[in-house]
Amino acid sequence: MFFAIVWRAAISLPSEFDAKFKVKLKILMALWAEARKQKSLALLEPFRCNVSAMAQSVATFALSELQDILSNINEACSAIESKEKSFAQVSPDIDVLMNKLISSAQKTPNPLLIESDESFNFESVGDSTEIAAKQNRRMSIAIVDDEKSTGMATAALISEFNFNVEYFESVNELITRLTSVHMDLVLLDITMPGISTDQVFEFAATLNKRGIKVISYSGLFNFDMRLAAVRAGVADFIVKPTSILGIIEKINRVLHLQKTRDYRIVFIDDQKSTGDFYQTILEDAECEVYFMDSVEKMFEGLDDIYPDLFLLDMNMPEVNGLEAAKMIRQQKQFDFTPIVFLTADEQIETKLGALEGGADDVIAKSTPPSLVIKLLLTRLRRSMAIREFVSKDSLTGVLNHGQIMEAAMTSFRLSERQKSHVSIAMLDLDHFKSVNDTFGHAAGDKVLSGLGQLLHRSLRSTDHIGRYGGEEFMIVLVGSTAEESIQKLTSIQKLTSIKNAFAGIDFEFKDKRFRCTFSVGIANLDNNESLPHAINQADQALYVAKKGGRNLVTIYQNEENK
Ligand code: GH3
Ligand code: MG
Ligand code: MG
Repeated sequence: MFFAIVWRAAISLPSEFDAKFKVKLKILMALWAEARKQKSLALLEPFRCNVSAMAQSVATFALSELQDILSNINEACSAIESKEKSFAQVSPDIDVLMNKLISSAQKTPNPLLIESDESFNFESVGDSTEIAAKQNRRMSIAIVDDEKSTGMATAALISEFNFNVEYFESVNELITRLTSVHMDLVLLDITMPGISTDQVFEFAATLNKRGIKVISYSGLFNFDMRLAAVRAGVADFIVKPTSILGIIEKINRVLHLQKTRDYRIVFIDDQKSTGDFYQTILEDAECEVYFMDSVEKMFEGLDDIYPDLFLLDMNMPEVNGLEAAKMIRQQKQFDFTPIVFLTADEQIETKLGALEGGADDVIAKSTPPSLVIKLLLTRLRRSMAIREFVSKDSLTGVLNHGQIMEAAMTSFRLSERQKSHVSIAMLDLDHFKSVNDTFGHAAGDKVLSGLGQLLHRSLRSTDHIGRYGGEEFMIVLVGSTAEESIQKLTSIQKLTSIKNAFAGIDFEFKDKRFRCTFSVGIANLDNNESLPHAINQADQALYVAKKGGRNLVTIYQNEENK
């Protein structure tokens, strides 16, 4: 995937340790690549924890060479953490040690079967966006545009959506900056003075090689430009002029930020060792894997799992994969769930038969694991995108009424078990009728979809956001604290900062500019009598906010606390 590492294609019963070691090493490399790039102590810590964990596991297998390297890395990290040495001083040493670790893992006979197709070079480390998404850190975006005023204005707007944004007037400025900071995505103007379009695309291709996503934009996109963009690996393009929300939507899509939970995969194979192997590599790729060694067992547990994808072995002793696929397709709720076969049989007839039987894809077991993951993730993303399109509120991209009520109900029930605090917030746009009346219904729609995007970007993936009705949204804030007062405070702070960001957005519609505000009422969901009761309290708080002049966040106070 994002490392220049190829595993031996053989799937022949790898020992459990072997498969897990590879994954651990890959994680270690990813963590180090991130930490060194950002020179961040916060990122060094998880790296070091993983180094220690690995040291323990190699100790069990008496692999002394690896053990020594790992303990040297550990020491080097300590030197940075204790401020004995600086990050820059120690970083080259750790690079050397990491390379040593990788090459000695390759040399070590079974169970460490790792191969690298080129010497590992930390400068060429690829896609870090998935790691960033995992860590929930803010993504960094660069804008390169020769028109300073528009470039800077766009940068300011994008930063409202919870991104770190920097503006650059030329490609050279960005190149200089990239020597010291990491960017996740570059918005690249392709028509700039002093540089040809071809050169800009060449630059885009080098960014792409470094794992930095590129969205290009221009006033004009003809066929040749589109083709050049595709060839340079540009992820998407924007035709100017465009709305800020259109840009945010593309950024979210390119950075895969829409994903709010791990993908669930049901995997059936009669050989447990194969199951263990794929389970390990898929779990590393942010998938939850439910492995079962027979089709019968799968049907027992299907209702609880509700998978996003079925991965089936073709040849199994009792019920084979093809029959299983047909049985799955008989169930209406899995009409659109992808079914992928994994098979040792590489004949074209077998493949055709599977496709006819309702499979979406057939993957040979000889395919390198990194490619298997890529194929599955592509399928999953596409099918989730379709499902999202069908089930979410199509205007605002957040949950629809039924879904948000369900999410609130679940949170209400869970809060008791997990002893966590949950707030519920009702949000209503201020004087929205007059927005419609003054600028038209389409302008109003634009505001609604903008608010949906902003909420989606600004809240944590554990929170729930839905359109309660018309111009009213419901938000369920799941607390991470056991302290009720802190939960209240964080809810107020969070919503207040979103409120302020929203109030600062300039909406543009047919050359007219306007701003919009909203009001919020918050109540406790946990320790409440019922969900409707909590909603009613939040509504009362909202009413107070409206009466108090709007553009306000209010929390429900019961009679005694008033
Ligand atoms: P207040 O500050 O008191 O909430 O005033 P308001 O004008 O926002 O409240 P009111 O409930 O009177 O009006 C809500 C308006 O929201 C009326 C309705 O036309 C508009 N609205 C509801 N759903 C949509 C929609 O999907 N698109 C658009 N453009 N407008 C909508
Ligand atoms: Mg309103
Ligand atoms: Mg209303």
